Amino acid sequence: MEVIKGIPVSPGLIIGRAFVLDDTVRFIPRRTVPVEGVPHQHERLADALGQAIADLERDRDRAASELGPEPAKIFEFHLGLMRDPTLIKHITTHIERDHVTAEYAVSEEFRKLTARFRAMGQEVFRQKANDLLDLDHRILSKLIGESEDRLARLTEPVVLVAHDITPTRAAMLDREKIIGIATDAGGRTSHASIMAGALGVPVVVGCQHLTEHVDDGDMVVIDGRTGVVIIRPDEQTLEQYRADIERMGTDRLALRELAPLEPVTLDGTRISLMGNIEFPYEIKEILANHGDGVGLYRTEFLYLTSKGEPTEEDHFQALKEAIELLGGKPLTIRTLDLGADKKTQQAAEEPERNPFLGLRSIRFCLQNLPMFKTQLRAILRASALGPVRVMFPLISTVMELHQAKMILSDVMEECRDEGIEYDAEMPVGAMVEVPSAALTASTLAREVSFFSIGTNDLIMYTLAVDRGNERVANLYSAAHPAVLHLVRAVVRAARRWNVETSLCGEIAGEVEYTMLLIGMGLRILSLVPSQIPQVKRVIRSVDMKQCERLARKVGSFESERQVLNHLREEVRKVLPELG
Ligand code: PEP
Ligand code: MG
Repeated sequence: MEVIKGIPVSPGLIIGRAFVLDDTVRFIPRRTVPVEGVPHQHERLADALGQAIADLERDRDRAASELGPEPAKIFEFHLGLMRDPTLIKHITTHIERDHVTAEYAVSEEFRKLTARFRAMGQEVFRQKANDLLDLDHRILSKLIGESEDRLARLTEPVVLVAHDITPTRAAMLDREKIIGIATDAGGRTSHASIMAGALGVPVVVGCQHLTEHVDDGDMVVIDGRTGVVIIRPDEQTLEQYRADIERMGTDRLALRELAPLEPVTLDGTRISLMGNIEFPYEIKEILANHGDGVGLYRTEFLYLTSKGEPTEEDHFQALKEAIELLGGKPLTIRTLDLGADKKTQQAAEEPERNPFLGLRSIRFCLQNLPMFKTQLRAILRASALGPVRVMFPLISTVMELHQAKMILSDVMEECRDEGIEYDAEMPVGAMVEVPSAALTASTLAREVSFFSIGTNDLIMYTLAVDRGNERVANLYSAAHPAVLHLVRAVVRAARRWNVETSLCGEIAGEVEYTMLLIGMGLRILSLVPSQIPQVKRVIRSVDMKQCERLARKVGSFESERQVLNHLREEVRKVLPELG
């Protein structure tokens, strides 16, 4: 039995069999297999080599017919290496001796050979080193492709174990078959984590070297409450976790009884609880928990899961579905927040050095007007069907807001000319998720009907900590006084300019923060739908004075630790059952 500590993302507890996904040729973990699994690794290697050789022969023949015999010769060199008995012997010996997976043996032997070629110094050998990398990738992608194919053809529920997952991969996972997720990399609020959490299964990320310790089929426990992953648990541990799962089932039932009750404090202040969604189907959970509507619709997931760029009709159909499901409750649509970890075709082809500081979000939209306008037209058409609000992400200057609004009014004019119905009074808002926006909230407030504070990004940009990087995850915290200071500044500016403010970062769903956020003056929270009952339970157990006192006290603290410890203590006093 091994216990690995990671970062909890999505609460819950599951015991299941691991499915290890090796899906990136850039990171091949050192994983071993049991002795009886060694022949299978040899077979996998032989298959992958066979396929890679067949591909190379095909490429050689095509090059010969299209470009002539000379360019085709390069493939002969590649084929020679691929069939080189010494290289193959090294790989098979590595598998045999260390019982490692075929992909690890391939990547290691190629790495050594490449290093040797590079060390030779002359240009011709360095060139050969690049050829070797290409061959390495050809074989590895066959082995990895096999893993991806298996993931697409799952027949049994599994716990997905991977080095990392992209937001797109997370969005494509089969919700029926994936019962838990654990990864080596990732942070609490990375977009992939948020998307994985939306599957409603326990998720733990940032487990560093987890994939090196797990084999396909291993029994694993994923504890999304504490961030613990247990590999091959012993019988006593299993018993303990089975009992926990049963207790949590009882707690869930108790929470379900809260669903129809109003989120009001003991002294009668009503807090609006809305849901964050990536796809319209998630609205069902908001409704089941009697949420007040959608406070954040991350529309870019439609883009990420589409084959090409979504058409106006694709956008419109998704919005229409959401509006119909909501049956009169508001839908807050965030315009495309692409870029950074949510890679567009352009980003994949021309990677940026600092993508989170680059052409992301509203900046990307303002430089890709046809795409932006296509979405805005769909949003306007949808606004005729029900209460729709639109907001622009990652606003960092008032100019951006002016530009975005100008484009929106251009599109409105086009719609008017074409006789397309839309809501001319549709509220327009800005997300506040960059310190510059928080600090100039008074200026921005004069341009919008509402603010939505996105703490996931605000924390990252305030503290200079990548929200998806497990190595600095200990520094990423909403409880840092600087972050709280900015949230407070936005709430104050919004109040002064009579602009509605909500908060939609992940902390809106974390019960430790509920009293503080209410105490700071927030009356609308938008959160992961499954957390609505828990947050409602806190709201119904506190009064405003208590929350305001807490916010004042926390405002005087100097360190993140102090703040967090105090928040935890206070919520435990209110709800001792949280443990
Ligand atoms: C945020 O940044 O807090 C936010 C809600 O947006 P996202 O998590 O999609 O970046
Ligand atoms: Mg954001």
